[in-house]
Amino acid sequence: MRVAMLVSPRSIELREVAMPEPPPGGAVVAVRVALTDGTDLKAYRRGHPQMPFPTPFGHEFSGEILALGAGVSEWRVGEAIACVHSAPCGICFWCAAGEEELCESVMDRKILGAYADAIVVPPHILSRNAFHKPEEMTFAEAAFLEPLSCVVHSRDLLAMRRRSNVAVFGDGGFGMLHALLFARDGHESVLVGRRPERLALAASLGLATIDASARDVAEALRERTGGRGADAMVECTGTAEVWELAPSLVRRGGVVSFFGGLPADARVAFRAARLHYDEVRLISPFHFTPRAVASAFALLRERAFDCTRLISHRYRLDRIVDAFAALDAGIGLKAAIEV
Ligand SMILES: [Zn+2]
Ligand SMILES: [Zn+2]
Repeated sequence: MRVAMLVSPRSIELREVAMPEPPPGGAVVAVRVALTDGTDLKAYRRGHPQMPFPTPFGHEFSGEILALGAGVSEWRVGEAIACVHSAPCGICFWCAAGEEELCESVMDRKILGAYADAIVVPPHILSRNAFHKPEEMTFAEAAFLEPLSCVVHSRDLLAMRRRSNVAVFGDGGFGMLHALLFARDGHESVLVGRRPERLALAASLGLATIDASARDVAEALRERTGGRGADAMVECTGTAEVWELAPSLVRRGGVVSFFGGLPADARVAFRAARLHYDEVRLISPFHFTPRAVASAFALLRERAFDCTRLISHRYRLDRIVDAFAALDAGIGLKAAIEV
């Protein structure tokens, strides 16, 4: 089978490898659709500390069961599967506390390599974070399970009141998914971005937008909120400038959520008085829990909104080099690799 290997920055090789055997309790899944995401693009550009070269990559996918390991009774060969690339251990301190996104081993035991003909889904994922894809859900929709799980976890951590005024900063896939989910939940959601084609896409999805290249964002948000500022603000740009700006964009008693990560050694500064006297809370969602994955699957199932509108390009696996070259050049939002 073919597997795309990232061998050095900006260099992908499609290699021929032996078809893996399914582990006991696990499965080999024939990938049907794999989606690109920001982490993959970052790894493509400059490598990733947790992914030493050469490395398989790609983690948002859906497919069909190709082979099953001993002891699996919930699945049949040929069935369509929607799953994520990780699952918590269920026994560590954090799992016992219900903070499974922080599970000691959730990152160590995640799987990469969805840009391939097939991928091994180990038992801990197959038993905990995998779902039977219904006929009416497309493989492309099902491949959104992982990014949507991150966004559901992010939303749940915010614990917003009904009909909150929420600003999402960032016009990438995660910004769009947040804004779509908030709008679906009945919040007053606005997407703040800079790129005209992304803002046009957001508007076509029914989202309110603010063009940060043309407007003072704080002023635009005050206008929308009777001068108070947003109830909540979700940072999805992963830039230190926006992290530092964020506390000034919410109302007194508002909450800022840092969804977009910064480099490990980055430092940011806030005015202490804003946090203390105005009770501005800062939170920082990471990854997701099985609860969030189940909610995300329910959202996909009910077609709460059309995630696939975020797919800007489609490529066959043998053109994965072109897919990343285009994304690297700033073309497109999310590419679907069809296997
Ligand atoms: Zn655990
Ligand atoms: Zn992802």
